[in-house]
Amino acid sequence: MLRVVVAGAYGRMGREVVKAIWNTDDLELVGAADSKREGVDIGSLIEAGNTGMVIDKDIEELLVRVRPDVAVDFTAPQAVYHNTITCLNHGVRPVVGTTGMNPGQIQEIIDLSRKLGIGGLVAPNFAIGALLMIKFATEAARHLPHVEIIELHHDQKLDAPSGTAIKTAEAIIEQRGDFQQGLATETENIAGVRGGKLSGGVRIHSVRLPGLVAHQEVVFGGLGQTLTIRHDSITRESFMPGVLLGIRKVIHLERVVYGLDKLLFD
Ligand code: NAP
Repeated sequence: MLRVVVAGAYGRMGREVVKAIWNTDDLELVGAADSKREGVDIGSLIEAGNTGMVIDKDIEELLVRVRPDVAVDFTAPQAVYHNTITCLNHGVRPVVGTTGMNPGQIQEIIDLSRKLGIGGLVAPNFAIGALLMIKFATEAARHLPHVEIIELHHDQKLDAPSGTAIKTAEAIIEQRGDFQQGLATETENIAGVRGGKLSGGVRIHSVRLPGLVAHQEVVFGGLGQTLTIRHDSITRESFMPGVLLGIRKVIHLERVVYGLDKLLFD
């Protein structure tokens, strides 16, 4: 049995993860942390009655007390870097879904994990369909280099663009290289109307609306044709098979890897 804690357990994703672990035979939920609901029974998050375990406010205190094998993090962009470093320093393998860390922070986490020999995973998207979208988009970019990304999320999302959009753009740029799309002299009559451009030339457009969960279109243009590759996470359950896979896989790693695709396709 792998012993797992969840940080951000009261959040939209955290509650789903708590439920998935609670209902999985080879994983044992041994604790949960959230800045809200301190002292409340974890069972109240998932309508499971009394579990005898309560929500902790401080992730570090929880790690020291229960010594889990794995800590899953679905907290907030401003908390995730510190939480992940804390996990590694306590010998706990992090499985991180929280987005918003910059490339320098991710690299620092990878370097520290390598030095300590502790496995872990930072995954901007746990939905297996989304990883296939990135894989197919990367292949398409070899033949159709003109491309823009439209990502659409619920309106409570804290960071923009999404980690998935950045990962898609990075994978496309790695495949096709720098590329000048459209007119170099183009001007915006409304600031930001053409989206944000990653160095390497891929533009990302972020849409935020109630009613959405997590969606992305990668739109390619060629002579007289377009190709759209679209993925939709309709419910947060879509992320759970990936999260459970990540928890089971990090036990066998000796450093943090970035992207669930590394564990699925490599
Ligand atoms: P949410 O509903 O706001 O939940 C986050 C929870 O974490 C909140 O209850 C928050 O409390 C708590 N929290 C914040 N800082 C904390 C800390 N230091 N220690 C303990 N708890 C803390 O957000 P969400 O929709 O679940 O999303 C969480 C993250 O997952 C976001 O970054 C989102 O982009 C990402 N996400 C990733 C994937 C993926 O597949 N990788 C999929 C969906 C979402 P407060 O409100 O008091 O701060």
